[in-house]
Amino acid sequence: MPILVTGGAGYIGSHTCVSLLKKGFEIIVLDNLCNSKENAVKCISRITGKDVPFYPYDLRDKESVRSVFEKEAIEAVIHLAGYKAVGESVREPLKYYENNILGTLNLLECMREYGVRNMIFSSSATVYTGALDKASAKALTEESPLAVTNPYGRTKLMIEEILRDLHQSDPVWNIISLRYFNPIGAHESSLIGDDPNGIPNNLMPYIVQVASGKLEKLNIFGNDYNTKDGTGVRDYIHIMDLADGHVAAMKKLNDCGGGFTAYNLGTGQGYSVLDIVNTFSRVNGVEIPYVIAPRREGDVDTCFADPFKAEQELNWKAMRNLADMCRDSWYFQQSIS
Ligand code: NAD
Ligand code: UDP
Repeated sequence: MPILVTGGAGYIGSHTCVSLLKKGFEIIVLDNLCNSKENAVKCISRITGKDVPFYPYDLRDKESVRSVFEKEAIEAVIHLAGYKAVGESVREPLKYYENNILGTLNLLECMREYGVRNMIFSSSATVYTGALDKASAKALTEESPLAVTNPYGRTKLMIEEILRDLHQSDPVWNIISLRYFNPIGAHESSLIGDDPNGIPNNLMPYIVQVASGKLEKLNIFGNDYNTKDGTGVRDYIHIMDLADGHVAAMKKLNDCGGGFTAYNLGTGQGYSVLDIVNTFSRVNGVEIPYVIAPRREGDVDTCFADPFKAEQELNWKAMRNLADMCRDSWYFQQSIS
């Protein structure tokens, strides 16, 4: 029976679909293409040689979501669809609450109506960053305090709470929340990758556009953080490792009967912005001009995962290194330039 992947045409969704299909799962994609292209769905088919049923529907339109459940015998849902730009969420909070929260409620109501009780939710390391002690550089476990600093983060935390309540109300619900750290890189085919609209907000999409000459130089947001070289430290994870994490989580869902559990998906290794710039230049032989710019509001010094729980309980571990991430990001950018 198929898995419904909401947001399956997006960056993380398309790679996750490839991993699922390669491991023999059947999938259906629902995506309104507000931040992706239908071509990504065609590329998933091309890479895997499998058909991918696609519904270009909006989660906010409950009737169209219901029609998918009516037509397809869905067994589980991987819920990635949502808006994700922190800065935009501060400027337009209602847009974020409407899309992320209402979309999720519609989906959950349809799941309940059609007896589908298995879900994997795309959460984020952002659920921790509001509680981070700026002076400390400790790995984050799933037990670390949760607090957020912006509407985007709040939608993630609220949805986790909604899912926890749902499981409390009916223990048959079987839910895994995956807290992603910083996915970068692309599938080795370079057919899919991170291709944001407009000027990128995130570090790697910005770097590759500097490398390709589309943007003049990288602005490094602050070099006075409490880190080894003063620039911010994050846990970058190869997108295919993250995608494989969903396969591991799906196997876990199939094995256990009910629960709400969160897992960090990260490598456990922190790299600074300068580490990324230098590794990218070395691996790809391309210089990245940069300037030191003021700190970006809301950024923390250091944020990296303790991935032990996922290793133990999901039998999953990130395998690819920073050089792989930098190389695959650059190959993908060249393929679309
Ligand atoms: P993305 O924008 O590439 O993918 C999201 C997809 O959801 C897009 O294809 C978009 O068209 C679709 N979508 C949005 N609203 C929709 C709606 N109402 N109905 C149907 N489709 C809708 O983003 P991504 O980087 O692949 O992120 C996927 C999920 O992972 C998001 O929920 C995001 O918040 C979360 N996440 C991402 C990161 C990251 O660094 N990329 C980190 C942590 C968490
Ligand atoms: N960053 C930067 N310049 C950019 C984008 C990001 O210096 O143009 C830094 C940012 O301050 C942080 C790191 O790169 O220290 C990762 O930022 P990103 O937005 O990719 O992910 P976040 O961890 O904020 O979700």
